[in-house]
Amino acid sequence: MKNKQGKPCKAVRAGKLKVCPGTDVKQFIMTKVKNLNGTSDRVPSGYESWIHYWKIKTGQKLAGGCAARNCSDMTGTNLEGAHVKKTVEYNDDSWYIVPLCPSCNKRTDEFYVTATLVPVNP
Ligand SMILES: [Zn+2]
Repeated sequence: MKNKQGKPCKAVRAGKLKVCPGTDVKQFIMTKVKNLNGTSDRVPSGYESWIHYWKIKTGQKLAGGCAARNCSDMTGTNLEGAHVKKTVEYNDDSWYIVPLCPSCNKRTDEFYVTATLVPVNP
């Protein structure tokens, strides 16, 4: 594996990808989504919340804050496991969970998220 400068690197994992350290992985894992408002799905048994579900399924911590691109909430506190759907161009009707801050969880437009999407019904 080689980095941007063409030098060999020791690959690191970024979600499902293997990349050189320092690579901006957000560009690879950006997905355009829409909130599914009015969802009140029961949390699957064995999980405390949808955000807990997301953490367990991805094995990731919420270090980066809200998953919405350009969101200023980088604190990672108060994140909600939001139900989203990919936009029509993905031709995928599944429901997914992503960590969003409370205000992004209320958005009604389409926006990009940079976190791993975890299917609600794997
Ligand atoms: Zn946000």
